[in-house]
Amino acid sequence: KDDVKGFFRRNAFVIFTVAAVIIGIGLGFALRPYKMTYREVKYFSFPGELLMRMLQMLVLPLLVSSLITGIAALDSRASGKMGMRAVVYYMTTTVIAVFIGIVMVLIIHPGKGSKDEFKNQQKIEQVSPADAFMDLIRNMFPPNIVQACTQQFKTQYGKRVVHVKMTVNDTLNGTKGQHIMREEVIPIPGQVNGVNALGLVVFSICFGLIIGSMKEQGKPLKDFFVCLNEAIMRLVAIIMWYAPVGILFLIAGKIVEMDDITETGGQLAMYTITVIIGLSIHAFLVLPTLYFVITRKNPFVFICGILQALITALGTSSSSATLPITFKCLEENNGVDKRVTRFVLPVGATINMDGTALYEAIAALFIAQVNNMDMNFGQILTISITATAASIGAAGIPQAGLVTMVIVLTSVGLPTDDITLIIAVDWFLDRLRTTTNVLGDSIGTGIVEYLSRHELQSKDAEMGNSVVEE
Ligand code: ASP
Repeated sequence: KDDVKGFFRRNAFVIFTVAAVIIGIGLGFALRPYKMTYREVKYFSFPGELLMRMLQMLVLPLLVSSLITGIAALDSRASGKMGMRAVVYYMTTTVIAVFIGIVMVLIIHPGKGSKDEFKNQQKIEQVSPADAFMDLIRNMFPPNIVQACTQQFKTQYGKRVVHVKMTVNDTLNGTKGQHIMREEVIPIPGQVNGVNALGLVVFSICFGLIIGSMKEQGKPLKDFFVCLNEAIMRLVAIIMWYAPVGILFLIAGKIVEMDDITETGGQLAMYTITVIIGLSIHAFLVLPTLYFVITRKNPFVFICGILQALITALGTSSSSATLPITFKCLEENNGVDKRVTRFVLPVGATINMDGTALYEAIAALFIAQVNNMDMNFGQILTISITATAASIGAAGIPQAGLVTMVIVLTSVGLPTDDITLIIAVDWFLDRLRTTTNVLGDSIGTGIVEYLSRHELQSKDAEMGNSVVEE
């Protein structure tokens, strides 16, 4: 029977993915003693790199086609209402996340002691918050839509190169156990692999609204995007089978190459624990409770349905790269209406980042603590507001939150150079906050669907059928 087949398929994915994580962790730790060279690690993680590239390949057409079709399938009143609900959800959950972050960092106080404990202190370029905010708005309106899809959009930020001092087992020349300075280019906010995602979201929403309002005249374009969307989703279905393999190697590769955890200082360990506790409260308590209170449905059944997306987020550190899988999980496992996922999910993946907001608030106050700077109520409030803005501006790519931290720090006069204090553990915390981000987007989609059920039903009745166009 189809139902039974479907059930096994869903569980096969989850079983494969969970197994991939377990094997990846085991393999990673088993291989660590062999001290692989830089080049060997790159070869070893290659299947993981391929997964990243495949997912990223789909993000752009998926983002544009799903937003346009999602919005064009509704009328402007329905999409306006749905949009409002989504925005209210995004803001509420982000503010709650920031609040949890602040309370946790004030209670645990991980930054006790002095700054001398840190080894990786380097210079970072200074950016004013006004420039940062203007960049955020600028990015919403790309001057050239084709360029927005293909090229890095120039911002005040420019590229920031951070020099990180690190121990390497091997450089390409084969030297072992030395400290080297590595240049890390930190990505620019609002962009995914050089693509201005925020700009494309704004453009696609407007475009979808216009096509929707054009009725018959807009039909060819609408059909085109519906077809494009469907084709991309079919590609996603194929890539999903490869995902466990990619995740296995992404995780194992990272464990093989990471710096020795025991070298991490006490303050940094406490900071890591603070972020983990904050994220857990938000992910396991706040979001599920919110879902239950509003929909009266079991949040954990919902979460089981998106398990593969959550694990992909953990493996890739990128909510944008995870987006194709999130779509599949929500639509197929949780049966969320496509008109809602297509509209709400791409926007959420671009601007709604609870995990990032929570982490930015903690990181800023942690940096204040290690500098022995007391923050008054006004400053804490400023941190909450800027952490919210910074999470909106952060792109859904690995470690984007680290860049937008600059906005938060400069707003209260904290030294931006100190971002380098937390770089050592950021790769790990990034994975956890990305998973929280994806969870937040998914639960938001479920809640918006529930709240919009009347509009969806009346739209179905209007169209004379209850099926969404495929
Ligand atoms: N990596 C995160 C994401 O993709 C963004 C961040 O760095 O906080 O959602």
